Amino acid sequence: MQKIEKTDAEWRSELTPEQYAVLRRQATEAPFTGSYALTKDAGTFKCAGCGAELFSSDTKFDSGSGWPSFTEPAIAEAVELREDRSHGMVRTEVACARCGGHLGHVFDDGPRDAGGLRYCINSCALDLEPDEA
Ligand code: FE
Repeated sequence: MQKIEKTDAEWRSELTPEQYAVLRRQATEAPFTGSYALTKDAGTFKCAGCGAELFSSDTKFDSGSGWPSFTEPAIAEAVELREDRSHGMVRTEVACARCGGHLGHVFDDGPRDAGGLRYCINSCALDLEPDEA
């Protein structure tokens, strides 16, 4: 995979302030504020930073958390997991493998019949490309 590397100034000029805060500064959008928290539209969720295909609507489920939640990435190699010890917690950060952008975190309280994982992702880190009708 071709990695995408840009300077901080480039990211800042290309992304919205909210996208920049999440993707490049590990911020978390407020729950139930993002455009994809509740959507059931079919399609592919791409990285808002680089366009990499990250998640499929087929694995999206209603976690009640207020963030889009998925049981697995569209392609395992599309995401990178990193230990995150910020805010006095130990969590597993989920990042885009292509551009390194912060997407959210993965937790082990997902649906047990679908692997038990919950990829909890910020809406503004994603762009939904709807399936052709
Ligand atoms: Fe990306």
